[in-house]
Amino acid sequence: MKRILLVFAAGLLVCCTAVAQRLPGGANPDHYALTVNMNFSNNTYDGDETIDLTLTKPSNTITLNALEIDFHEVTITAAGQTQTAKVSSDTKNEMATFNVDNPLPAGAATVHIKFTGHLNDKLRGFYLSTYKGRKYEVSQMESTDARVAFPCFDEPAYKATFTITAIVDKGDIAISNGEIVSDTPGPGDKHTIKFSPSPKMSSYLVALTVGDWKCASDEVDGIKLRVCTVPGKENLTRFPLDATKAILHYYNNYFAIKYPLPKLDQVAVPDFQAGAMENWGCIIHREAALLVDDKTSSEGYKQNVADTIAHEVAHQWFGDLVTMKWWDDIWLNEGFATWMTPHPLAQWKPEWLEGQNVVDTTMGALSVDSVENTRPIQQEAETRGEIENLFDGIAYGKTAAVLHMLESYLGPETFRAGVNLYLKEHAYGNATASDFWDAMTRSSKQPVDKIMPTFVIQPGAPFVGVEAKCEGGNTTLSLSQKRFLETPATFNQPNDQIWQIPVCAKGVTDTSAGKQECFLLTQRQQQFTLKGCSKFVFPNAGGLGYYRFDYDAAAMHQLGNAVEHVLTPEERIALVGNEWALMRIGRHNVGDYLALGGQMKNTPGSALLESFSRHLNFINDYLVTDADRPQFQAWLRNTFSPMMQQLGYASRPSDTPEQKEKRAVLFRTLGNVAEDPAVIQQARTLVQQYMKDPASVDPTLAGAVVAVAARHGDAELYAQYKAHLQKVKSPQDYYRFFYGLAEFPQQALVKETLASTLTPEVRGQDLYILINLLANPPSQNASWDFIRQNFDALMKKTGGGLGGVGIFLYGAQTFCSTEKADELKQFFDQHPFPGTERNQKEAQESIRSCVELSSQQQSKLAAWLQQNGTMSASAGGGSVVAVN
Ligand SMILES: [Zn+2]
Repeated sequence: MKRILLVFAAGLLVCCTAVAQRLPGGANPDHYALTVNMNFSNNTYDGDETIDLTLTKPSNTITLNALEIDFHEVTITAAGQTQTAKVSSDTKNEMATFNVDNPLPAGAATVHIKFTGHLNDKLRGFYLSTYKGRKYEVSQMESTDARVAFPCFDEPAYKATFTITAIVDKGDIAISNGEIVSDTPGPGDKHTIKFSPSPKMSSYLVALTVGDWKCASDEVDGIKLRVCTVPGKENLTRFPLDATKAILHYYNNYFAIKYPLPKLDQVAVPDFQAGAMENWGCIIHREAALLVDDKTSSEGYKQNVADTIAHEVAHQWFGDLVTMKWWDDIWLNEGFATWMTPHPLAQWKPEWLEGQNVVDTTMGALSVDSVENTRPIQQEAETRGEIENLFDGIAYGKTAAVLHMLESYLGPETFRAGVNLYLKEHAYGNATASDFWDAMTRSSKQPVDKIMPTFVIQPGAPFVGVEAKCEGGNTTLSLSQKRFLETPATFNQPNDQIWQIPVCAKGVTDTSAGKQECFLLTQRQQQFTLKGCSKFVFPNAGGLGYYRFDYDAAAMHQLGNAVEHVLTPEERIALVGNEWALMRIGRHNVGDYLALGGQMKNTPGSALLESFSRHLNFINDYLVTDADRPQFQAWLRNTFSPMMQQLGYASRPSDTPEQKEKRAVLFRTLGNVAEDPAVIQQARTLVQQYMKDPASVDPTLAGAVVAVAARHGDAELYAQYKAHLQKVKSPQDYYRFFYGLAEFPQQALVKETLASTLTPEVRGQDLYILINLLANPPSQNASWDFIRQNFDALMKKTGGGLGGVGIFLYGAQTFCSTEKADELKQFFDQHPFPGTERNQKEAQESIRSCVELSSQQQSKLAAWLQQNGTMSASAGGGSVVAVN
């Protein structure tokens, strides 16, 4: 599954309070034949289901999962005898037990079930989605919602084949995991679509969607591809088809096992909780994660869509072909899919500089992992809520980062051989964490089974201390390790965790960089020898180490600007990201961070600038006092305006993706953080041009234009945004203005935006806008009050599941006051939400850590700005190149 916003929060998504205990066992499904007769007139469907299974011992009962299902008749046939079963439902455990009078012998049995299911509005199981008055049935089973769609053994280890048949209205089609083998008229006015059997797979991968979908087709490596959408959006399917062709072809070469199905469908649906879901052969996306208007989409948006496709297609191997045995190892799905994603994209679109994105993602994962209340990658989970709670920044970002580190340490081909061995050994079956590192250890002949458990089983990330000494022509590296925690108090307390860390280092001089050498740091303190002597040792060569590090700042400063030539862009991203961490634990000051970021701002690629800009926003919101703000803004203009002038506001045909993205980052930073009058004026002009003719503004700049204009806009502009939302042509066009609404600072407009979240104007899937409203200082207080007052209604609107509390707790992490931390605690004391206790602690910790940082760094920042912030405050004034 591709989750929204997963990179920056360790505990993001939580669910319901109901428990989902494990099935008692004794029956193993082999094959399901499921016929669904869709009744959109009353939002139900009639199910007719036959399950062929094997009983491991004689029994009078068979227990499986079922929730919100109306049973009509259940019969069980075994050893030539058919018996009608009594059904007892256990709603609390989300199970149903079928009882028969005469014992069923061990061996084959067939269960036949007639039932009615409900197309719910909770975005789970088989659910209802609507668009322009039309109804669509959409499915979403992961993690534990196949049981809401049809009775089944809904645990990942119960793999079986599925043959699905859909009876649908005239004018509707159905899309599922299999290929259509027949489409015949009847019963009545309907038609019956029968699909080929799925491969052996887990129940959470079943897909079925019904409606008047329109599909565009293509083909790669003999595999039929389709991208399907509601009518009228077929023109947005070219990019996703091209991306899928490149990605699937890459995977077919990378993996020893080729994609095993004859087709791969992808459907963009109007309502979807996650970003996308990897159902085997039938990936379902929210529209903004699949559909692209080539003319008006930004570089970042296209990259996100390609990233989502690459993630979901990778799951066809990691998750669909080989599935974790139980949810505690969900990282074997999500971490691998996230790790795999940049590989095909780097080949398809080298200009996207995927290597830099990887390091940036690693930096994000390290941040998530730097709080005491983080969790280990592998974590027990039994209840529905605990399972849902595992789909977070740890399962995705941290795991991917650790795998990138391991791949870099072993070498890409050695790593690939290990991956292929693991897939081969567990194809069509299930695997555990140790299955992975055992295969990898045998294949690579390296101690992967020693390294990986230290990162997978224990929580947190290491900090590597580094001392370099030139001795006899070589460098003696004294490395030490301890757990990294993001405040001075927590970092300095004793902690006995030890990792086995692949540390890669390189020595650099003013003009050249030495070859990188990697060492395995297995003890608390250890010495290694790096060949030759140099001015400065960079202790994260390649930038892929999953650790924070100390470095000799004085030695690095002696290199001056030469640092930019001897460190790669990836290493510079790691260096600047690490500087932020060193500032947080009080080893360096915020001024050191600003100086280093400013020095590195011209690094090729946009990742470093984007990460720097995010932190500048943070500094502006929480570390700068009103008295110091003019100097901070002057420093920002002084630092960034020359770059903005060089790039200009208007795009040029020769612009690379990097240049377009840098222009957008600079525009937003200068407009919203530096409050540069010239940029604000440009935003006002350009947004009017854009609303008249979206093609008249560079698509990559457009998002920043809409945001900056709104931040400095008024009620009239707000009304224009609302009017524009009614006539948008693409998902990205919609979300630019939808999220733009959250930027307006006027309290009356904030209230209007908040109120709209409870109306049909805002879909349940789009309540993520509350995070933006919570994060934006002018709307923070009103949003916080609104959410507390309307908590139940908002939870209901998100389906009571993934979005609700996750949005709330994620948004709360942007608070930075003791008062707010107390209010958050008070709120959950009064509204207990079992299963989210750790997430609440994590949010508390994050807020209090911000408060502490603010008190430590505020005066230091003021002093630094006294020295550095007064230089030509008007440098960013009005001399920027005009738009034509
Ligand atoms: Zn996923």
